[in-house]
Amino acid sequence: MLKLRKFLKPFRLPIIFVLSLVLLQSISELYLPTLMSDIVDKGVVTGDTKYIWKIGGFMLLVAAGGMICSVTASFFSAKAASGFGKLLRTKIFSHVGDFSLHEFDKLGTASLITRTTNDITQVQQVLVMMLRMMAMAPMMCIGGIIMAYSKDAKLTLVLAVAIPVLVIAIVIIAKTGIPLFKAMQVKLDNLNRVLRENLSGIRVIRSFNRIGHEKKRFNDANWDLTQTAIKVNKIMASMMPIMMVVLNLTTVAIIWFGGIRISNGHMQVGDMMAFIQYAMQIMFSFIMLSMMFVMIPRASVSAVRINEVLQTTADITDPAVPLTGEDKKGHVEFHDVTFSYPGAEMPAISNISFTMKPGEVTAIIGGTGSGKSTLINLIPRFYDIDSGKIVVDGVDVQEMTQESLRKKIGFVPQQAVLFTGTIAENIRYGKDHASEEEVQHAAEIAQATEFISTMPEGFQSVIAQGGTNVSGGQKQRLSIARALVRKPEIYIFDDSFSALDFKTDAKLRAALKEETVDSTVLIVAQRVSTIMDADQIIVLENGEIAGIGKHKELLETSSVYREIVMSQLSEEEIA
Ligand code: ADP
Ligand code: MG
Repeated sequence: MLKLRKFLKPFRLPIIFVLSLVLLQSISELYLPTLMSDIVDKGVVTGDTKYIWKIGGFMLLVAAGGMICSVTASFFSAKAASGFGKLLRTKIFSHVGDFSLHEFDKLGTASLITRTTNDITQVQQVLVMMLRMMAMAPMMCIGGIIMAYSKDAKLTLVLAVAIPVLVIAIVIIAKTGIPLFKAMQVKLDNLNRVLRENLSGIRVIRSFNRIGHEKKRFNDANWDLTQTAIKVNKIMASMMPIMMVVLNLTTVAIIWFGGIRISNGHMQVGDMMAFIQYAMQIMFSFIMLSMMFVMIPRASVSAVRINEVLQTTADITDPAVPLTGEDKKGHVEFHDVTFSYPGAEMPAISNISFTMKPGEVTAIIGGTGSGKSTLINLIPRFYDIDSGKIVVDGVDVQEMTQESLRKKIGFVPQQAVLFTGTIAENIRYGKDHASEEEVQHAAEIAQATEFISTMPEGFQSVIAQGGTNVSGGQKQRLSIARALVRKPEIYIFDDSFSALDFKTDAKLRAALKEETVDSTVLIVAQRVSTIMDADQIIVLENGEIAGIGKHKELLETSSVYREIVMSQLSEEEIA
């Protein structure tokens, strides 16, 4: 909770305003019983009607003043808390934007979503409560005790017994409840994860008839959360009756002992009535405090989770003094690069060295899991390497800013990802202010024009969330167009032709060749025919280079390559 304090700074003024209003409200509430005892003792007892009207009118004024303070305080505390929530969400969103893939792997997408939405809402709610109660409760408690003491010192002994009883009850309840709140937040994460997987995997779930299985999974997570919530609420629900019993017993005790003191002539009736009200105010302030005891642990669990996100620093950061690339354009060099995923026993790729130059096509081929995607993810510095060096345009990738590095690269990932929006918008994602012609040209080369023109609204057709209304091959072609419109120095295609038929694949590569004469091109592919005429082919096996060279050379030198080729091409094609 405290660690989020710095985000409250912009709201200092409204908060101070709210606190002073709450203070005024407490004063008015503390003043009212005294006025009432005056009316009883000096007005009712003596039959002075004028006095009753005078003080009664004043009481109304004080009460109205207190009410106005209360309403205004509510308004501004809600405003400050929502502003705080918004600020926090913005902070998390932009902070998460700086994460490298490693941090996403670590925190998990579902949890990040819960933390940005539910957890912040929790903290926000508590903030409203705290603003109203944190000032009110101590004020009412201390003020009430002073006022009660001034009414009748001996009778305060009743409170000296009642308050410790209350406090003990509150502590016991809070102690049993707090761990459960922690558990609840984790279970909510679980529920979110199951729900997310369900919604995004709905096609697979239906086709494999796993609806029943998924329902059970959801029900389990749901039930788990419900059980904990019920347990927590049972504990918290027991709080109110306990409080009320203590409260009412206290009233009885005050009337009992107060009655004795009145008949002995030590006390007046009005004072006793005021005393009862002060006792109520004191005890209610304890109940308020105990409600904060309920809310604060819950919110501090959330606050810790929010902090975890904010304190997770990206593994990959820009250097303090970034170097800019030399005049070379599109040179990529791997020097003895080894990389392992965090927590993995074996490096995913090891001792990789090769060079790529502009105007050349480099191809990577190898079985699934051989490390092809891993290798190319290192060029845009999605991950930092364990040892070795990756140099782009003469500068180590760790010594330039990520932005300047990624500006050079047109990346087509293995999983084509499109965003909600029109086709043109999706292509323009590669270059913000690309002209109409540029967009069309990129689509042309990516062999996408054909299917785009058959769509009712052409380039203005809308892509659904996750690109579900276009086929896999169409998605691939759009994401290729998106990279092409950038006109980068380095093109990276991760298995981007896999969903294309042979004819489109060939046409696309022919068009690409003209487009990329001056650029460096890196193609990862499964099909030998896609990469046969590359300037250099890298054969990967278990994360190591098993051969490097042109098609003809590799056929003679690399048995791994020969095997791959044999499995795909006929004798005459190989020759
Ligand atoms: P390819 O693209 O050649 O099919 P990858 O580069 O995707 O292979 O994967 C190489 C190896 O790295 C695999 O054994 C895979 O299990 C592992 N791997 C891939 N991505 C991750 C990741 N995010 N975290 C941990 N291990 C991974
Ligand atoms: Mg791959």
